[in-house]
Amino acid sequence: MVLCAGTYGSPPILMRSGVGPAAHLRSHGIAVRLDLPGVGANLADHAGVDIDCGYRGPARTAPIFHLLATFRSSATPSDQAPDLMLWLFDPRGDPPVFEIDVGLLRPRSRGAVRLRSPHPAEPPRIDLPGKRDPFDVGRLAEAYRRGLEVASRPEIRRLCAEPPAPRPLSTSELPDLIRAKGYSLPHVAGTCAMGPHPDDGAVVETSERVYGTGRLSVIDASVIPNGPSAFTHIPTRDARRAPLRTARLGNLTSGPGLPGSALRAGFIGNWRPSERRSRYQAHGSRRRHPPPARNWPTPPRCQPAPCGAGTVRP
Ligand SMILES: Cc1cc2nc3c(=O)[nH]c(=O)nc-3n(C[C@H](O)[C@H](O)[C@H](O)COP(=O)(O)OP(=O)(O)OC[C@H]3O[C@@H](n4cnc5c(N)ncnc54)[C@H](O)[C@@H]3O)c2cc1C
Repeated sequence: MVLCAGTYGSPPILMRSGVGPAAHLRSHGIAVRLDLPGVGANLADHAGVDIDCGYRGPARTAPIFHLLATFRSSATPSDQAPDLMLWLFDPRGDPPVFEIDVGLLRPRSRGAVRLRSPHPAEPPRIDLPGKRDPFDVGRLAEAYRRGLEVASRPEIRRLCAEPPAPRPLSTSELPDLIRAKGYSLPHVAGTCAMGPHPDDGAVVETSERVYGTGRLSVIDASVIPNGPSAFTHIPTRDARRAPLRTARLGNLTSGPGLPGSALRAGFIGNWRPSERRSRYQAHGSRRRHPPPARNWPTPPRCQPAPCGAGTVRP
């Protein structure tokens, strides 16, 4: 059985089925089948902040500088995945704005998804991570300064009538601005995290089977244990395609801690090129890139289930 109700949807289904943090389940009168503390915990998200470049012209359909660039904060070693992002939008909206969004890709802050009640029609209680960890605020501030540098480049200045806003701030003011203006991108993940051991908060193995169950898997963004260094759609799609076929590869789960080792086990966005190559070689493929999904079956069309429907039997 494969569960794929998303970062907010999969944990409530597991919890209502008796799979999750025992104390939380008991507090809702749910019989505990499997005490898995990580279910619904570890909610990760990408935080962002806008910089208005000062463009005051019409909206544009042809791109000016529509691009996305990732880079590392000063706290991130060069052998680790980028943790910051600049995203340039073309002028849009009413009135049109030309913005640079700066984003934090590898957040430390964590939230949670919990049941409000055992009733399936009741939406879960979602506690977004926000920017509660000061390390995240510091890195977003660094990205903001970089965004202002880019907004001040002549290539952008010649398109814009006014200076970028808000103007550069003092070191003490910038964290407050980040906290006040920051928003969720929203790229939520992590509430059924993949990892080496359930005691460390992992919910699924690298095969995406739920720990302690026979044939129950979760395959959606909730298994991504850390905010990936990419938007989440493609890592989620790859989670659907790759790990089920490849994750039984030797030592991929070795290594300390949950995020790094588990990420390398399943998510292409976070692999270094050498790892990516070896993973595809392990597939028996000489290609650097994944083979096309020609043989992947077309998913059946399905009727939407009633809101909150469904439990699973582990
Ligand atoms: C506004 C927005 C913009 C985004 N933009 C981008 C982008 O530009 N690029 C990018 O890479 N990512 C983007 N993302 C993120 C991306 O959409 C997600 O990472 C991705 O869809 C996650 O896939 P998923 O399968 O985990 O969950 P989902 O795509 O959310 O799929 C879960 C499905 O389960 C269903 N479901 C939930 N509960 C139940 C239930 N109880 N019974 C039956 N069905 C249920 C839901 O209706 C849904 O169809 C965006 C997300 C949002 C919200």
